[in-house]
Amino acid sequence: MDLVTGHTYWPHTLEKKPVYPAVEEDLECDVLVIGGGMAGAMSSYMLHKSGLDTILVDGTTVAGGSSSANTGLIQFFNDKTLTSCIHTYGEQNGVTFYKLCEEAVNTLADIMTLENIEGAVTRRESLYLASSDSDLSMLKEEYDNLRKYGFDVEFWEAADLADKFSFTKPGAIFAKGDAALNPFRCVHGLVSSSASSGMRVYEHTRIESRKDTEEGIVFYTKDRHRIRAKHAVYATGYETQEMKPNANAKLLTSYALVTEPLPEITNWYRECMIWETARPYLYMRTTDDNRIVIGGEDEPMMGEHDRINRLPVKQKLLLDQARAMFPHLDLRVAYAWSAVFGETHDGYPLIGSQPEFPNSTFALIYGGNGAVYATIAADIIKRKLCGEEPHPAAHYFRFNRPSRTLPFTISRERKEAPSAAGKA
Ligand SMILES: Cc1cc2nc3c(=O)[nH]c(=O)nc-3n(C[C@H](O)[C@H](O)[C@H](O)COP(=O)(O)OP(=O)(O)OC[C@H]3O[C@@H](n4cnc5c(N)ncnc54)[C@H](O)[C@@H]3O)c2cc1C
Repeated sequence: MDLVTGHTYWPHTLEKKPVYPAVEEDLECDVLVIGGGMAGAMSSYMLHKSGLDTILVDGTTVAGGSSSANTGLIQFFNDKTLTSCIHTYGEQNGVTFYKLCEEAVNTLADIMTLENIEGAVTRRESLYLASSDSDLSMLKEEYDNLRKYGFDVEFWEAADLADKFSFTKPGAIFAKGDAALNPFRCVHGLVSSSASSGMRVYEHTRIESRKDTEEGIVFYTKDRHRIRAKHAVYATGYETQEMKPNANAKLLTSYALVTEPLPEITNWYRECMIWETARPYLYMRTTDDNRIVIGGEDEPMMGEHDRINRLPVKQKLLLDQARAMFPHLDLRVAYAWSAVFGETHDGYPLIGSQPEFPNSTFALIYGGNGAVYATIAADIIKRKLCGEEPHPAAHYFRFNRPSRTLPFTISRERKEAPSAAGKA
């Protein structure tokens, strides 16, 4: 599956990208982590740190999949609002999910500090805009729920927005505690840190098949080398749908661009990360070198050829919307890409085992908050494989959870449930 087309920005922010060899002999380990994106990097980091003999392999390169297309908003907010999570799953489940996401933003930021991974995370606030008057009541209900359960949020009226920005909207929730991520630096930083303390990492090593044995699993690489493991973590991203489709998963096409650097970013309060209630939604953030990342315009999944053809039109639509909000900024496109984006119909990622794959755990961090879900998944997996107390919310994300139906089903293509859609 071609996950990304066009020119992504993040690889240009890391001067010396680490490279890793391909597997050239048979190997053995406690845990084989398949996939060197956000999910695999974070899971292998936590497993390796906990003392398990871990191997990480990627069929292409580390951070070469969807993680290089990630626009890097990491938030306790999710595509599915807290209000909608409570409606769908009940109060305890919905609130716990939001609290887990809040904690995961902090965990991710703390790991970057602990491992001295520079330029990966910048703490930022978020602004969730009401796109129209008709979304105001739902936004106010969401604000009330967030306040009730202790999230650090403020409600801003149209006049407050006009004071702080070059645009206004009918209202917004301003949320503290989020962060902007450089996904490329984050993934490479995690993998380098693990590799420098002994974890084995291999690129250009595609896993083609597996054989289950009494002792564990034997994996066969494309070049017919064997990797024996007691357990496997499938962090294989959206491509997993080709291997084992899941009815709850849905693949779309998303678009993003990054502008040329600006001399100064003004009339943008604290350079907070901006998104909105419309579906599909427009979102924006700034970078450390004064660029603006703009994304959205999601549409149904299409082939690479169609994605390439659609990119110029989508790029213009994104740019026009940003220019309308920040007319004083001279916005010019430097990088633009389109990519496969995955989400689930019920709004939660898929983390857990599947009966056809013994001794294996899947970390499918589908949804607009993938980096946050990767951090939650890694903790769930580490606890499971290290024999620790199981994660109290692990069952929320299991593959065989009951299916949830409309009106709470997620759709990024329709503007219906304002609670449900994606960031990408
Ligand atoms: C345009 C866009 C914007 C986004 N914005 C955000 C955002 O703002 N915030 C956010 O948190 N998330 C965002 N996301 C989502 C985020 O990018 C994903 O959640 C995340 O990158 C997925 O990481 P992953 O590790 O699951 O997958 P990937 O990064 O795709 O990694 C999977 C890896 O597995 C490897 N692989 C697959 N099969 C095999 C095999 N058989 N053998 C060996 N290797 C294999 C692939 O080569 C790949 O490198 C966005 C996504 C898109 C497309």
